[in-house]
Amino acid sequence: MASRPAVFIDRDGTLTEEVGYVNHPKRLRLLPRSAEAIRRLNTAGVAAVLVTNQAGIARGYFSEDVLDAVIAELAAQLSDAGARLDGIYICRHHPTEGEAPYRLRCECRKPRPGLLRQAASELDLDLARSVVVGDRPSDLELASVVGARGVLVLTGYGLGEWEYRRDRFVVEPHHVASDVLDAVEWSLKELVG
Ligand SMILES: [Mg+2]
Ligand SMILES: [Zn+2]
Repeated sequence: MASRPAVFIDRDGTLTEEVGYVNHPKRLRLLPRSAEAIRRLNTAGVAAVLVTNQAGIARGYFSEDVLDAVIAELAAQLSDAGARLDGIYICRHHPTEGEAPYRLRCECRKPRPGLLRQAASELDLDLARSVVVGDRPSDLELASVVGARGVLVLTGYGLGEWEYRRDRFVVEPHHVASDVLDAVEWSLKELVG
């Protein structure tokens, strides 16, 4: 069988509210239309894959156990709403902050493509028929590096980036979406028609 398309979704500011470092599960808030966005992907048979940089680990702001609890809370909130992520991929590193093993010039910190390549291999995904959705220019750069399409959402940092810092974008978005559901609707039209 041919590889599946995927929509890779950033966490903070895209799927959940941007609140700074999420150092307790109670700080995690799904954005209003996030669960519906994931449900649409589930129904369409398009992989829904979370891809997030959590350098708070490297910086020592929160532990692996706290990160695990936050991710479990996210999965539980989605599950309560009938939505399921097909994969969750996290970079815990920072190139210059903290200590080993997390202080590392890794291949997985977005916009480097390590997490997407790992997901593609483990979940049999076709990166060229995939979309990366996020609220930062680095998410668009990540899309470009793997030959996927990039969508900027205007939630989180997205609105400010788009209104005030657009001239610094090194990769243009294929689509600018009001939120993750809008991004998923656009992606489904692109990927499955
Ligand atoms: Mg973000
Ligand atoms: Zn990394």
